[in-house]
Amino acid sequence: MSDRFATDAVSNQAPPLTDVNLYAADVALTDAVTREGAGASARTLNAFGLTAGSEEARELAALANHHPPELATHDRHGRRLDLVTYHPAYHDLMRLSCAEGLANSTWAHLGPAGGAPDKAAHVTRAANLYLAAQMEPGHCCPLTMTNAAVPVLLKNESLARDWLPLVLSRTYDPSFEPAAGKAGVTLGMGLTEKQGGTDVRANTTRATRTADGLYTLTGHKWFLSAPMSDAFLILAQSDAGLSLFLVPRFLPDESVNALHFQRLKNKLGNRANASTEVELHAATGWLIGEEGRGVASIVDMLTYCRLDCAISSAGLMRSSVAYAVHHAEHRHAGGRALVNEPLMQQVLADLTLDVEAAVALSFRLARSFDRARDPRAAAWRRLMTPVTKYWITKIAPALIAEAMECLGGNGFVEDWPIALLYREAPVNAIWEGSGNVMALDVLRVLQKEPDVAELVTDELRAACAGDAVLTAGFTRLEAVLHEPRLLDGRARQLVEAFAKLAAGAILRAQGNAAIADAFIATRIGGSARSTYGQGLDSFDLKAILARATPNRQA
Ligand SMILES: Cc1cc2nc3c(=O)[nH]c(=O)nc-3n(C[C@H](O)[C@H](O)[C@H](O)COP(=O)(O)OP(=O)(O)OC[C@H]3O[C@@H](n4cnc5c(N)ncnc54)[C@H](O)[C@@H]3O)c2cc1C
Repeated sequence: MSDRFATDAVSNQAPPLTDVNLYAADVALTDAVTREGAGASARTLNAFGLTAGSEEARELAALANHHPPELATHDRHGRRLDLVTYHPAYHDLMRLSCAEGLANSTWAHLGPAGGAPDKAAHVTRAANLYLAAQMEPGHCCPLTMTNAAVPVLLKNESLARDWLPLVLSRTYDPSFEPAAGKAGVTLGMGLTEKQGGTDVRANTTRATRTADGLYTLTGHKWFLSAPMSDAFLILAQSDAGLSLFLVPRFLPDESVNALHFQRLKNKLGNRANASTEVELHAATGWLIGEEGRGVASIVDMLTYCRLDCAISSAGLMRSSVAYAVHHAEHRHAGGRALVNEPLMQQVLADLTLDVEAAVALSFRLARSFDRARDPRAAAWRRLMTPVTKYWITKIAPALIAEAMECLGGNGFVEDWPIALLYREAPVNAIWEGSGNVMALDVLRVLQKEPDVAELVTDELRAACAGDAVLTAGFTRLEAVLHEPRLLDGRARQLVEAFAKLAAGAILRAQGNAAIADAFIATRIGGSARSTYGQGLDSFDLKAILARATPNRQA
């Protein structure tokens, strides 16, 4: 019988993009790692690139997202449990990323091996995080918070003595047990309340000092992610004002601390990771830093988290564009591969330019964390953390949406990986300081820390010199900077200008003319536009796209 009507034959579908070395196949990444001083980590990054890009990791990511965490508040007898259970795939992902040092590697010098800090520790970890975010973004939340909590823990000597050895372990231990008996721990944070997240000074959770010098915390937190972490950094109002406390899940007598989980957030994305609402019922806390100086005590943690938001968004962007290019290389329309259609070429090349810029900016920022003893690097870190976090996390959702469209209908279907990347993307802009908050932070630097601003603008001026379009862009930026009365209303415009100029200057210095010429001409010199795929007809699209193609042989 003829099978003329059989529908099982499949043609003109791209082969799965899997078992790719996500490190070696990514030229923008390997260039950035070398440029920013972490070339010596290439061997381990190659190994993690293979793991993160493996078919096995893809399956773990799918399972962890299709079986989101579940909360059990009570057992069947009505006793409190406050337990969140995860699919085993989530634990496997955590195990892989913890073994890679994602929860602590920038602080390895504080561990038993000691020694001087690795000069490229932040850049190396940034590369690992960029890969881990592509493997599965939700599980990165506890990794980021744990790594970022270390400088805060160091403010309290006795807490650091007890907790650091456990934080610095690369063994992931998901057991719900007192920390002292565990092989490794993770940390979370509780800042946001119903009445205000950004405005933490409006926090109402009370901290009352007890006879033994500890505190009891009573109140409510509206978001507490990774609730099975072993301890949380929590802001609460004491008699001296807003203060920071370490609140562990277990107390020294091995009883469970009074953190009562109410429900899990039903989130757009970030589904492998749990986020709870929690009541603190006179939970015991240990003061960190000075009483009444809670914001100053937590600020380092936020800075490290903001770096991670930028890095992981850059990873999500890269991943989506790699899938888009791969699809266009294999999908044919009218007998021609989509990647050879001039309009598709322009779209893909345009997307590639923003990925290159995001990688350049975020890895440059990571280097400034490695060199923060140098005043110029410290200034870059201070001003460019909110700039970089703002710009990359803001452009990611639109870029990923366009990359999704390159796959046509497949892109919108959850079986393909871009849907997950798209649902994840907005959160990096929202948490750890939303867009306006980042823009206001930049204004704060410009208005209150003129020395910092001057060091960065001097560096940018020098980096733009020699390129007429960059120099003209810098002159426009300076004109606004010299008009203090204009600053308040132009904060977002300024942040974007800083980001694009810095990215353009790094891409220019990197020496890939095809990328730098097109980015600078369209983002700094060109006319305003609001969608991708425009203004590149006179550029070397093939050379740009060559950097985006995910090389499966690498
Ligand atoms: C998935 C997820 C997980 C989270 N996990 C945690 C967690 O583990 N711990 C935790 O503490 N929090 C967590 N959060 C909360 C998150 O950090 C906050 O939602 C975020 O800081 C914004 O606070 P908010 O929701 O109260 O919004 P608001 O502070 O009310 O802000 C609303 C909007 O107003 C803008 N805005 C605020 N102030 C100003 C101003 N002065 N001028 C102009 N614009 C302004 C903001 O940019 C934002 O766009 C999580 C959030 C999400 C979505």
